[in-house]
Amino acid sequence: MECYVCGMTMTKPDDFANGDTHSNYCVYCASEQKIKSGGTVRESIIQFWLSRYESVSNHESEPIST
Ligand SMILES: [Zn+2]
Repeated sequence: MECYVCGMTMTKPDDFANGDTHSNYCVYCASEQKIKSGGTVRESIIQFWLSRYESVSNHESEPIST
C-alpha cells in the first residue's frame, strides 16, 4: 500500500493515517491535509503532481549544449 498523496510505502499501522491500515493516506499527509475534505485532498494531489511534473520538465528542458 502506498500513500495516495505522496506515494510513501506504508507497511505498518504506524505508517497509515490514524493507524488505519485501510486508509489511503500516510500518517504524515493525514496530519498536514484535511483528509475529511475531499476537495482539499484532490487539490493537494493536483498540486503535488504539478510540482513534481514541473520539476521534471524543468530538468528535461534545460538547454542542450552540443
Ligand atoms: Zn503521504
